[in-house]
Amino acid sequence: MSEASNPSRTAPTPASSGAPAVSVPRTLAGQKALVTGANSGIGRAVAIALGQAGADVVVNYVVGDDAAQSVVEEVRRGGVRAFAHQADVSSEEQVEAMFARACTELGTLDILVNNAGLQRDAPFATMTLAQWNTVIGINLTGQFLCARAAIREFLRRGVVPSVSCAAGKIICMSSVHQEIPWAGHPNYASSKGGIKMMMESLAQEVAPHHIRVNSIAPGAIRTPINTAAWNTPQAYTRLMTLVPYGRIGEPEDIARAAVWLASDQSDYVVGTTLFVDGGMTLYPGFATGG
Ligand code: NAD
Repeated sequence: MSEASNPSRTAPTPASSGAPAVSVPRTLAGQKALVTGANSGIGRAVAIALGQAGADVVVNYVVGDDAAQSVVEEVRRGGVRAFAHQADVSSEEQVEAMFARACTELGTLDILVNNAGLQRDAPFATMTLAQWNTVIGINLTGQFLCARAAIREFLRRGVVPSVSCAAGKIICMSSVHQEIPWAGHPNYASSKGGIKMMMESLAQEVAPHHIRVNSIAPGAIRTPINTAAWNTPQAYTRLMTLVPYGRIGEPEDIARAAVWLASDQSDYVVGTTLFVDGGMTLYPGFATGG
């Protein structure tokens, strides 16, 4: 019987507002993970799911000590180690210090989930350089800095067959906007388009070392980053014209994909973007003939 089909080796997923409740198999037992932007939304759900799957987890955050601590406590319910670490992912110095602490306290690192991100929206003509630089600095440069630190540790340690087939796994949180242009959000869409090419170039470079780098491209997920898109009936109805599957995504929908991409279940998946978007990238405007 495989681990996935053995109910005695599963942990319950906390109920959420919409995503189906399922059990998480302990496919990451003994692995060490770091999740950026893990005290809110998608990062929070990913950190908790990694813990349920058996990984020790570093919960990165930049502001919000209490929220970070509550995620740490939820992760520990999976019977694993977890701690919060405050760092701005756009700061080279802070990122280096965070990875040094992670490797010291946990021994090494097997999984990075490059999740931290934000929006600073404005029409192109009035967008300030500060709005542009903030989004590129956190969403794209932040992923570069964290991925570089993780790669150095993966290369140093190599494959440990008793832990995983791979020498390390990186999951970049991209967006459907790595494909779909987004008027009024050129900085955000550019950052996600940049993540696509950074991820694929890195995946190509490090695959020979048995390091797997992939992305998840979420569609519309119910988190604080996009509250205005779902928090009134009118907004929700309008959003559903873009989602063939007919419901908003929940953070747990992304968390399950992240656990799979981090596990040996996806061992031959390299340099791919997994769209978890309820069909948003299927050009729903053409569903009735265009
Ligand atoms: P969120 O606002 O709930 O979470 C974002 C997290 O990033 C927060 O914890 C925030 O504190 C953290 N963060 C911001 N700046 C940081 C910095 N400088 N250093 C460290 N952490 C920082 O939003 P979310 O929806 O959970 O977003 C998570 C990721 O998912 C982002 O990369 C976002 O672009 C992506 N995404 C979200 C959606 C969606 O619909 N919610 C869709 C596509 C992609």
